[in-house]
Amino acid sequence: MRLTFLGGAEEVGRSCIIVSTEKTRIMLDAGVKVESRNNEYPEVTDREARSLDGVFLTHAHLDHCGFTPHLFAKAYQGKIYATKPTHELLNVQIADYMRLSNPRDVTKEALQRMSKSVKVVDYRKPMKIKDLIVEFIPAGHILGSALIKVTNQGKSLIYTGDINLTTTKLLEGADLKDLSASTLITESTYGGKDDVFPNEKELAKAMVHSIKHTLLSGGKVIIPSFAVQRGQEVLLFLDDFMNSGVLPKVPIYVDGAIGKVLRIHRHNVIFCRKEIQSKILMSDYDPFKSDNFVMVEAKSMRQKIVDGDACIIVTTAGMLTGGPVVFYLKRLAKDSLNKLILVGFQPEGTAGRALQDGAKEIDFHDERLKVSLSVEVFHMSAHADRRQLEMIPKKIAGLQNIFIVHGEKKKAEALKDFFKNKYHVVIPKIGESFNI
Ligand SMILES: [Zn+2]
Ligand SMILES: [Zn+2]
Repeated sequence: MRLTFLGGAEEVGRSCIIVSTEKTRIMLDAGVKVESRNNEYPEVTDREARSLDGVFLTHAHLDHCGFTPHLFAKAYQGKIYATKPTHELLNVQIADYMRLSNPRDVTKEALQRMSKSVKVVDYRKPMKIKDLIVEFIPAGHILGSALIKVTNQGKSLIYTGDINLTTTKLLEGADLKDLSASTLITESTYGGKDDVFPNEKELAKAMVHSIKHTLLSGGKVIIPSFAVQRGQEVLLFLDDFMNSGVLPKVPIYVDGAIGKVLRIHRHNVIFCRKEIQSKILMSDYDPFKSDNFVMVEAKSMRQKIVDGDACIIVTTAGMLTGGPVVFYLKRLAKDSLNKLILVGFQPEGTAGRALQDGAKEIDFHDERLKVSLSVEVFHMSAHADRRQLEMIPKKIAGLQNIFIVHGEKKKAEALKDFFKNKYHVVIPKIGESFNI
């Protein structure tokens, strides 16, 4: 087999890998790097797109799936292979992507062809694509996420996509049982030596304690969050602590795509953690439909929320780059009673990072914003931390080669240092190919 890295190499974003033999060419992930000015795409020519025998998506984050409409615009004729939840989340994410980025090359016709081309696959059911066998394995990262294993003539590679080994509020960790392969392509988002995360439950407890303090003094709490996974995770924690009386009963407003994605989790509950499934089966209680949540269905509700009493607002976008959070933060930032809780990564140079670092005045969506509300960080990660990344190769029988992708260069290098004595380790560059 031959591997070609077209994106996601020495960077986070636009993940895209070609696996080929003499007879077959498939693509693993087709992501975009969404930037405030110009999005970056993987380096896929029209000819490459037309030559593919299949596109396999690990999960429905845009850095892994956002390029798929562009592939159809380049006259790709084949199928998109994805799990059922990835398929449903893909529709939400791509609609959002089209609205925000409005890429010129993608026509309505290309989008229609794309929506008819998705083939839903099950976990742990290998399928044949000419002389390749492809298998999806639960990755524990977001609903429907998968590792992808590709085998040709008895030789296998495993690509992590994004991976999480620990069980979270919503999902079981990655299923690493009985894995064997000679090559691993691993993400390295948190590959740095000090990238070690605290236990999620402890973090949630501390977060809830901080929220309680603000609510009791009459303030409002804004929690900006990604639409997929983190938002639902936060909501379920808040619901638990409210039901057990730790948090006072106030409305939890849900704004942006988080509510829609919450519904997708509900009807794909079979892909969620066993504990949630039995809770729904064994009792009348359904955490996805909790009375504590108030869906913000109309824009007109937003002003009433900021004028109203103490409450919690969980809304997009997680990195404060757009979405309803802009409205809320502009109106609530001046009152020191209020609080902003950051649960996601804030890249350098963004308003979110400035707030995280204690800025009292920021440039925020065409406004110079004075910030008096308090800001706290409770970083909940859906990725493996350094300790978990170190463990993954040990779980794969017969492993010889490791390719490190999906991480800033310094993170990838830190991880390479750890693996290099035992394995042949490569940090590929964009455009490079390797025979394995
Ligand atoms: Zn992801
Ligand atoms: Zn990713």
